Amino acid sequence: MSADTIYALSSGNPPAAIAVIRISGPSADAALRQIAGSLPHPRLASLRAIRHPETGELLDRGLVLRFPGPASATGEDLVELHLHGGRSVVAAVLAALHSLVGLRPAHPGEFTRRAFENGRIDLAEADGLADLLFAETQSQRRAALALAGGVFSRRVESWQSELLALAAAMEAVLDFSDEGEVADEFPSQLTERVGSLAEQIERALRYPSVERLRDGIRVVIAGPPNAGKSSLLNRLLGRRAAITSPVAGTTRDMIEAPVSIVGVPFLLIDTAGLRATDDLVEAEGVERTRDSLSAADLVLWLGDRADLPKSERAILIASKVDLCGTGARPQADLHVSSETGEGIDELIKLLLERAAGMLSNDGEVAINDRHRAALFECARHLRNAWSSRDALLISELLRSARVALDQITGRAGVEDMLDQLFGRFCIGK
Ligand code: GDP
Repeated sequence: MSADTIYALSSGNPPAAIAVIRISGPSADAALRQIAGSLPHPRLASLRAIRHPETGELLDRGLVLRFPGPASATGEDLVELHLHGGRSVVAAVLAALHSLVGLRPAHPGEFTRRAFENGRIDLAEADGLADLLFAETQSQRRAALALAGGVFSRRVESWQSELLALAAAMEAVLDFSDEGEVADEFPSQLTERVGSLAEQIERALRYPSVERLRDGIRVVIAGPPNAGKSSLLNRLLGRRAAITSPVAGTTRDMIEAPVSIVGVPFLLIDTAGLRATDDLVEAEGVERTRDSLSAADLVLWLGDRADLPKSERAILIASKVDLCGTGARPQADLHVSSETGEGIDELIKLLLERAAGMLSNDGEVAINDRHRAALFECARHLRNAWSSRDALLISELLRSARVALDQITGRAGVEDMLDQLFGRFCIGK
């Protein structure tokens, strides 16, 4: 528990209809008593006059709430003041709090940090809360809410407890081997369990990525010059983001445009046309196009089927259907016209269908790079443990796998380990 009591404006910048100031720490109740008189019942909103503790000047009238620890958001005594959201009201109340002994302004994220330190949330849930604050699209919000609500944490906990059970069983094997009584069947059963856990974690590595949700699914529009790439980008965006012109090779650099289509984030990337060129600037553009093709989640290919980038991520588009008709390129996945809008709805539908497989569904987990790196480490140790026959080495690898998982939640499972280990002993031993 922290000795400091912290306070901050927790709502948005004033002026606003309402401002919420939070106070957390051992002196939260004392502070409330000094500025609002008597303490209200826990978790019950009460109207109070808020006064300066020294001068007694009335600063505002508002609702106050107290949440006694440890059953509060931060795990400490927590107070909320719901005030009128004017600049001078907020400034006066913050100044009044500043004059109280033992209180100081909170650092960024400090309320959440205390929630973590007091065991109210784990690191993965804190990641989810941060994502939720910055969520701009509905799919980001859903994934962030699932993470903040502990959907992923519960899954990690179940892997942690299986790892602990395996480690405990392994310790038992090692104890027996000291006495020269190595049980042959037991380790093979264990190996199977290690393998199945490795499989589960490898599957989790394929969870959708938070970064993709945040930055959007990368859709690269590519093809030869003048195929209509910039026009297609503009059509999809509904505004003129890229310059289109009838002169080949206009888009010499890439244009990246984030767009949310029915709540799904996309990053549309218009590229330089792929063709052999002597122009240095254009050549650089062509080079970048090749790089962006390799990093694309989806490619809208406006060229010939013969030149189609070999990838299941590519969609073959026949552009300018208003000029050429559908007969000209019957093999295309879609025929579109950026001029008339023909085929654009179908293209959007196809983009959304492909995106659905890459993003998380309602309430499903998406993980960030930190989680992914930890899962990767864990799976690697488990695979090594799975293929090893050396009990000591396996034991050590299981420990490393557990350390990797602990990084996700920020909870070292030492206590759990002891409980698990000692729980297997008899009473009186
Ligand atoms: P890019 O070089 O592949 O980006 O091609 P642009 O989008 O700049 O288009 C090249 C030319 O084709 C421009 O003059 C566009 O107006 C024209 N264009 C693009 N799409 C269409 C279309 O669907 N129909 C018609 N009629 N013209 C188009």
